[in-house]
Amino acid sequence: MAYRVPFVDPGKNYRNIKDEIDAVYNEVMSKGDLIMRHQLAAFEQNFANFVGTKYAVGLNSGYHALLLSLIAGGISGGDEVIVPAHTFVATASAVVNAGGTPVLVDVGPDYNIDTGKIEEKITPNTKAIIPVHLNGRMARMDTIAHLADRYNLIVIEDACQSLGASFDGKNAGSVGLTGCWSFYPFKILGGYGDGGAITTNDPEVARKAALLRYNGEDRETGEYHYHGMTCLLDNLQAAFLDVKLRHMPRWIERRRAITEKYRDGLGGIEGLFLPHFEDKRYYDVYQNYVIRTDRRDELASYLEENGVEVLIHWRRPYYSYAELGFIERDFPETESISKQVLSLPMNVEIEDAQVEYVIKYVRRFFKK
Ligand SMILES: *Cc1c(COP(=O)(O)O)cnc(C)c1O
Repeated sequence: MAYRVPFVDPGKNYRNIKDEIDAVYNEVMSKGDLIMRHQLAAFEQNFANFVGTKYAVGLNSGYHALLLSLIAGGISGGDEVIVPAHTFVATASAVVNAGGTPVLVDVGPDYNIDTGKIEEKITPNTKAIIPVHLNGRMARMDTIAHLADRYNLIVIEDACQSLGASFDGKNAGSVGLTGCWSFYPFKILGGYGDGGAITTNDPEVARKAALLRYNGEDRETGEYHYHGMTCLLDNLQAAFLDVKLRHMPRWIERRRAITEKYRDGLGGIEGLFLPHFEDKRYYDVYQNYVIRTDRRDELASYLEENGVEVLIHWRRPYYSYAELGFIERDFPETESISKQVLSLPMNVEIEDAQVEYVIKYVRRFFKK
């Protein structure tokens, strides 16, 4: 079924910038610049500048950005790493696959890690914290940096959902030892397939990540330095991402303008909580526009029936899957979020009239 208001619209995004994308496609393809050529280096430099770090290392996914950050940060067998209970499973899986043990902490009403609950989870084995900046809003990095200092922990930011966000004047992905990014098609900066990056100010971490992503081999000398992997960002994807990065300031403005429309249109409905949290220190970029209500499932079906595509992140917390081996499952805020949240269509291609259509049907639902 074709939606009146699709959740995302990658085809329309491409059509809007087709000339620019096709030009770099033709150039890359006709020159045969496929692996680690100047387009990758140029994108890395531009991306680091955008985030505000010295280095960016292009990778094939956000998952690998997390995994390589943990390895480069020295995490190994038996090390405990603090992660939020409410996040995409990849945050915790990267810890397990690096040989560490994820230790979960519940989140607060803004969907980010509850910094008041971190300290009680710190043990002599704790080595790192991975705050996730979920839905386009940063975690409380001042408190996290303070705890990290006090207990000598490294901080790896899962910034996959927060390109352009800031807290207290500091950009997502520029505060921790590394910032981890995903260029999965539906992220704020999305490629035409998988992609990711690490940002860092640490030259050693940048060097190690750059070697690990390419079999541990220094391509200039031909020598091996680590047991590495194969998880480079494709040169063609880097060229596409570099084009899209130039549009980013305008696209982020557009996202925020859409959220203002949602806020004006949906404010004041009893039993409906909108993702606007009054604190001027935050600059949110709304990877997702998450609303919250006890009548979530009913509302989701009603919107779908009326041509509005909605998503639920996530119906069931990742730690509740027995196969993943988590023992602790007592995270009340995460449990209630799983039952109450719903994400409305949010993409830069959406027209004002479509936003108004969504608002009209949400209001209609709550009048029933
Ligand atoms: C998308 C995402 C990831 C993983 O990114 P991939 O590129 O799909 O591997 C990790 N953490 C969060 C919070 C994400 O949203």
